[in-house]
Amino acid sequence: MSVYTRFVSQAVFPLQERLKKHDTVRVRRAMEASQWWPAAQLEAFQRDRLRAFLSDVGAHVPYYRQVFSDAGFDPAKISRVADLQRLPFLTKPLIRANTEALRADDARALARFNTGGSSGEPLIFFIGDERVTHDVAAKWRATRWWDVDIGDREIVVWGSPIELGAQDRVRQFRDALMRTELMPAFEMSETKLDGFVARIRARRPAMLFGYPSAISHIARHAEKRGIRLDDLGVRVVFVTSERLYDDQRESIERLFGCPVANGYGGRDAGFIAHQCPSGSMHITAEDIVVEIVDASGQVLPSGQSGEIVVTHLATRDFPFIRYRTGDIGVLDDTPCACGRGLPVLKEIQGRSTDFVIALDGTVMHGLSLIYVLRDIPAVRAFKIIQETLTLTRVQVEPGEGFSDGDVALIQSGLQARLGASVEIVVEQVAQVAPERSGKFRYVISKIAG
Ligand SMILES: [Zn+2]
Repeated sequence: MSVYTRFVSQAVFPLQERLKKHDTVRVRRAMEASQWWPAAQLEAFQRDRLRAFLSDVGAHVPYYRQVFSDAGFDPAKISRVADLQRLPFLTKPLIRANTEALRADDARALARFNTGGSSGEPLIFFIGDERVTHDVAAKWRATRWWDVDIGDREIVVWGSPIELGAQDRVRQFRDALMRTELMPAFEMSETKLDGFVARIRARRPAMLFGYPSAISHIARHAEKRGIRLDDLGVRVVFVTSERLYDDQRESIERLFGCPVANGYGGRDAGFIAHQCPSGSMHITAEDIVVEIVDASGQVLPSGQSGEIVVTHLATRDFPFIRYRTGDIGVLDDTPCACGRGLPVLKEIQGRSTDFVIALDGTVMHGLSLIYVLRDIPAVRAFKIIQETLTLTRVQVEPGEGFSDGDVALIQSGLQARLGASVEIVVEQVAQVAPERSGKFRYVISKIAG
């Protein structure tokens, strides 16, 4: 650990957190002890925390006061984590319809968030101090598994223009102090890519954090230009928010010369799981209860694939209780070789609502098609319409330099995923309009921003 890192992690960061009335340092230390607890002890801890959390929520959150009363649910009587199953799910439409009633009556200084999501429908929700504290502590604990501490130089490769807009002077100051730099990887032109590669080389970060599609794209661009990234001392690349594909992991690990640590989480659901050096994605079980449910909402046992439902125990100001993420995953009972007792989530299969079906019946994430087009700089906007299993239409809003070569790239890229004999029709249009999927007709679109 460098002198600067030690100074930041032991002095500046704790002071800053105290000023913000967060207690991240204490939470992180507690989590570093509890991660080694046996599963039974963690579950007992979860149960007690769940009881206290739901009692607090029942007393202060109007929406849940009503829900508990309707269900005849008494939080004080919780005797096991599974009692949670007596409560209804929380969904995005429910959050939209009850945004005000979901705020605790004594909540202060809530931060407002707005996520785009792949469906394009925004979700507005609020995050309180306690939740920020716990999410930062969970991320910090996970980076320390990889020998990266708060204060080590980090580059965050992010794609959301909304979050970039939120960056004000206070945050710039914090980023400089904490040595975190935000790199806006929303636009991936050749010039921008050259700039990103140069920034990474100049900055020599200990860690990169962000979308695997964006980071692998930058790494491959550097390779194409013959510029090395494996001599900078990068210790780990943390990826999150998207499915990590094997070819992306391979490129990132080879070109940065370091391991990739996969993570699962989102602005809405929190830092749910992180990969340890032994390879497992450990759930932040101190804060987050993960359930896997089938299409009818029944809870499934470990080993079976279903929708990931999360309850975040540090969200008393704006509760996320049995929140349906729309992502598909599997819980794994096998203990991890690292010795941590934290439960393991495996096979995050992507969003249940965003699947496409290949000619041979393979169900795959809609994003796998999006990547093909998003990686072509001359495509300004696009829409993919899977008309039938054998015909997919692509509308493209061409940008400068769009060529027949790009059309061929789209066709071969989609055929590689959907099937070699699938007909791919590429249409150039002046403007693509947003649209949602019908029953079999699957539409994916990216609207030029
Ligand atoms: Zn492990």
